Amino acid sequence: MMKVAVIGSGIGGLSSAIRLAKLGLDVSVFEANDFVGGKVNEQWLGEYRFDMGPSVFTEPTLIEELMSLCGKDPSLFLYRQLGESCRYFFTDGQQVIVPAGMKQTAQIFESSFGENRQRTERFLKRLSKNYQALSPVFIQSSLHRLNQWFNKGIFRAIMRIPYYGMIRSMNAVNEAQFKNPKSAQLLNRMATYNGSSPYRTPGLLNIISHLEFNEGPAMPIGGMVQISKTLHQLCLELGVKFYVSERVEEILHSKNKVKGIRTIHQKVDCDIVVSNMDVHFTYERLLNGLHEPKKILRQEKSSSAIVFYWGMKSSFNELGIHNIFFAGDYQAEFEAIFETKTRYADPTIYVHITSKVEKGDAPEGSENWFVMVNAPINVGQDWDVFVAETRRTCIEKLSKALKRDIESLIEVEAINEPRKIESVYFGKQGSIYGNSSNSAFSAFYRHPNFSKTLKGLYFAGVTVHPGGGIPLALNSAKIVERCVREDFR
Ligand SMILES: Cc1cc2nc3c(=O)[nH]c(=O)nc-3n(C[C@H](O)[C@H](O)[C@H](O)COP(=O)(O)OP(=O)(O)OC[C@H]3O[C@@H](n4cnc5c(N)ncnc54)[C@H](O)[C@@H]3O)c2cc1C
Repeated sequence: MMKVAVIGSGIGGLSSAIRLAKLGLDVSVFEANDFVGGKVNEQWLGEYRFDMGPSVFTEPTLIEELMSLCGKDPSLFLYRQLGESCRYFFTDGQQVIVPAGMKQTAQIFESSFGENRQRTERFLKRLSKNYQALSPVFIQSSLHRLNQWFNKGIFRAIMRIPYYGMIRSMNAVNEAQFKNPKSAQLLNRMATYNGSSPYRTPGLLNIISHLEFNEGPAMPIGGMVQISKTLHQLCLELGVKFYVSERVEEILHSKNKVKGIRTIHQKVDCDIVVSNMDVHFTYERLLNGLHEPKKILRQEKSSSAIVFYWGMKSSFNELGIHNIFFAGDYQAEFEAIFETKTRYADPTIYVHITSKVEKGDAPEGSENWFVMVNAPINVGQDWDVFVAETRRTCIEKLSKALKRDIESLIEVEAINEPRKIESVYFGKQGSIYGNSSNSAFSAFYRHPNFSKTLKGLYFAGVTVHPGGGIPLALNSAKIVERCVREDFR
């Protein structure tokens, strides 16, 4: 039986392991950390539970698809569809709750921002059609194998080119579409979902708004960590073996073919290696720079983040569960903190509170706050100072908006920042999603899901095609499976 070594147990690694084990291959997963799930993990601080990484979850059908693939009832993966796509607190005092759904969103854009309802609805419908056209070609197929992306969907995708907004930036498209700057600000946030800047990423990426506004976000019952726990369980049932606290140090190869891996404890022979490690580090650390695709690796990196995990000894009725944004003209302040003029991301303070629905996540009358600010990657800045400044600014803004002394309510605290993202998850310079999508051609500068020079080497996860976020990491594994089937018929 052919042997597979998967390096890393993030969502891309776990879903690749499931798919390859289902093909009948002998799969082992090697994980450097002492926990499985990569960025989708949880931590308890006293009586408060926190999801440490992702909080926005769309396309739960992709998890259901893996359940079905493994012969399980997909409805056993439990999640709630959230009625709200986001909730905004603007500095001028305006509060806006955007319900999920195309019609509902258009209605609220009219009543809150004065936008024309029919025009907004037409715009959202266009994003939906763009998404349906692009997904089979750009998201579910390899862009680097003609047989895959020249599928029957390609003609539909080409026919819609005039509607994508490829030449203008996301911000330019949104400013032309809406008259109220707040409307554009809401949609511009989608660029940050793959760590890009709305002022530079193409308008095409507005398709992310389709998932959030038209389809609406979901939340797994038990928190985001249930996504990795579910995939881990599927792996175990398929007989996938796990080696945790076992960092891989080298990918072994000879005559342009993969031969195995060397971990900190052992050498393992195998025919196929799937790297879920950041592609940059895979070349730098596991292949000693050999076969490095320099142009791809030189691309600008996606942004990083500073996250405060606060156990709050109070509850806030005015806050929802999810996607709560404190927005305004924060640009100058965050530029000053991070000493950068680059408009790398939408400057907002983002809050997510699972204990609103998961009662066990915080003590009675208290809340677990996940507070995030987008930040630049680590190039050696003084992060101790940046984090302290960001914390002070967040507390000041949140206290003002909510008319409460936030600092005095923080009972327990943990902090994540670019240096930790780099050291814990091995993200190059703390970038969360590998290369940014700050150009119209960035999709073509993402690393393919397979190596062009080493037979048997594949890549899954957010740093390779099709890109950042849980749904795309799940799709990367789907493409890996397809490439393996093609290569080892
Ligand atoms: C703060 C934050 C917020 C986020 N918010 C969202 C969100 O709201 N929605 C969303 O969809 N996504 C979000 N993301 C991104 C999301 O976490 C990823 O899209 C998703 O988890 C998929 O990651 P991955 O498959 O690339 O693997 P990762 O989670 O990056 O895991 C890679 C794994 O490989 C392991 N590894 C690396 N090198 C080695 C080695 N040499 N040997 C063995 N193991 C190794 C690492 O330890 C790690 O476990 C967020 C991320 C962060 C950090």
